[in-house]
Amino acid sequence: MVQPKPGCVWFVGAGPGDPDLITVKGRGLIERAGAILFAGSLVSEAATRWAPADCVIVDSKDMTLEDMSAWLITQAARCETVVRLQTGDPGLYGALIELVQPLDAAGVPVQVVPGVSSAMASAAAAVESLTLPEVTQTVILTRMEGRTPMPEGESLQELAAHHSTLCIFLSITLLGKVTAALSAAGWSRDAPVVVVHKASWPGEEKIVRGTVATIQALCREAKLVSQSMIIASPTLGARHWTTLAKSKLYDASFTHRFRQASVPASQLTLDTP
Ligand code: SAH
Repeated sequence: MVQPKPGCVWFVGAGPGDPDLITVKGRGLIERAGAILFAGSLVSEAATRWAPADCVIVDSKDMTLEDMSAWLITQAARCETVVRLQTGDPGLYGALIELVQPLDAAGVPVQVVPGVSSAMASAAAAVESLTLPEVTQTVILTRMEGRTPMPEGESLQELAAHHSTLCIFLSITLLGKVTAALSAAGWSRDAPVVVVHKASWPGEEKIVRGTVATIQALCREAKLVSQSMIIASPTLGARHWTTLAKSKLYDASFTHRFRQASVPASQLTLDTP
């Protein structure tokens, strides 16, 4: 007897919270899913809003990894499109590989649809750019060491020594350790830090701005204990700077693949020192 072809398990990034921030592709998969396994309350709304009426929808919050892979394998034998819906992007702190391996072993095809990470949504909420010319051109996505140990060379103090942008996940309850690591790496007490809680969640987003010295007390006052992104960056607040090095890409003297320079560099009056 010919075995039925197994369905595909799609790991779909649901985005940071606002259901409108899922990708068009992710939404299309939910609309034709026979089964959806979603991760916690963050993404339940997207799942229930667009799933077909007969779709089996399950919250994974009380499941172990083994429970989840067994469930996904069973559903893939039953329906063509199975969705594992995760917050933000599935490739960041999402146990993606731990779930893919048992599916590979069972011969179930897997695909991944990226999502808008909370790091990007938090920067957007605060109208901040994570990179700026001549300030920093590097973004580090990381976390404070908690129950998950950090690999060698990746302590926050070592990473902060680069003085580039740090987007720190999963660490709001360890904010004191975060600021201690920044100080130990040479960040000044006045260096700006922004914490965004529930970035993009309609009506629930909170933005707390402070410095290495003040951010912990400000977040305690605002009662932020979960679902928060900590961004420490020399770019923060640039919206209000009066001097700013402009990106070469839009510079009139800069020729690139799509545009010839319209003004020779020598004729330009630069409005930044
Ligand atoms: N894959 C997710 C991250 C999951 S880890 C992503 O790409 O965003 C969970 C951590 O992500 C939380 O502890 C918090 O630091 C951050 N996070 C998730 N959603 C968030 C949101 N809407 N606003 C701020 N931080 C968020």
